[in-house]
Amino acid sequence: MQTLQDRFGRRFSYLRLSVTEVCNFRCQYCLPDGFRGDKHGFLSVDEIRRLTRAFAELGTYKLRLTGGEPTVRRDFTDILSAVAETPGIRRIAMTTNAYRLARNAAVWKAAGLNAVNVSLDALEASSFRAITGDRRFDMVMAGIDQALAVGFDAVKINTVLLRELNDDQLPVFFEFVRERPVSLRFIELMQTGDNQAYFERHHVPGSKIRDRLTADGWKPVARGPAAGPAVEYAHPDYAGQIGLIAPYAKHFCDGCNRLRVTSRGALKLCLFGSGSTDLRPLLSQDDQTEALKSHIMSALFEKPPTHLLHQGQVGDTPHLASTGG
Ligand code: SAM
Repeated sequence: MQTLQDRFGRRFSYLRLSVTEVCNFRCQYCLPDGFRGDKHGFLSVDEIRRLTRAFAELGTYKLRLTGGEPTVRRDFTDILSAVAETPGIRRIAMTTNAYRLARNAAVWKAAGLNAVNVSLDALEASSFRAITGDRRFDMVMAGIDQALAVGFDAVKINTVLLRELNDDQLPVFFEFVRERPVSLRFIELMQTGDNQAYFERHHVPGSKIRDRLTADGWKPVARGPAAGPAVEYAHPDYAGQIGLIAPYAKHFCDGCNRLRVTSRGALKLCLFGSGSTDLRPLLSQDDQTEALKSHIMSALFEKPPTHLLHQGQVGDTPHLASTGG
């Protein structure tokens, strides 16, 4: 079996695949005015199948579907079936705002979805609306309940920590995992091309959470080989866990194990890098797999050792919906 390895010895077993740039929410740090771009021309199910096959033959076994909002695609269940049928893919996760989760969790699980990350920046309706621009708080909460009821391998919550907007709510977020077997991960707000003023106003360093967790008796948990970027903490009094994704922390990129492909078929080596490699010309026919694999392997040679986010260099990502967050 071939493996994807870069110049620094990092191995890539995890692909984050964006299936659309379109999002129906208006999160203030991402798409405050809603999605305004071209709503057409995203990878087809057949292109996604060929892409997944090539990555799987290169040792990728974990796939995350993201966007934009991946579930706005009407053929989302077909996408899941296509990737689930790919030999070598053992774990399929998605990141979603959960607006369709309550109704579809069972169908998506049957199609092959193993794990769900739900984005949830507030635990009551009015702040949820202020941050996301959307009124469907109750549907999102019902989606989380339904995801737990159908028994995915993992249900995780992503919460972007925002000064003045939700950073005074830490005890409420901790309480959320007291009885629920979910991992709630605080994500440090990241600067992107479009959100500089918002970032300066609302960024909270991850160390604030880390200090609070340590003071309250939470202990770090060992990280699995295909784990994402979160450091997870457990506490004997809580059914769930708290995680921290702190991209501004030193050595964050040392353990990088993931690559990204955009919804238009561009391989991005780093969320905060510039440039990409167009894979789409090699996705139109089934007999292009070997050429596609060579193209991916040679592109990987250019992966830099680290992003330069801490120096304010955000690369060419205007917002995370464009690349797949
Ligand atoms: N629409 C889906 C959702 O809401 O989860 C998937 C795409 S969204 C871009 C993926 C994740 O990125 C969400 O958890 C979102 O909160 C997070 N995100 C977007 N922009 C961000 C930023 N500037 N800093 C930190 N997290 C961000």
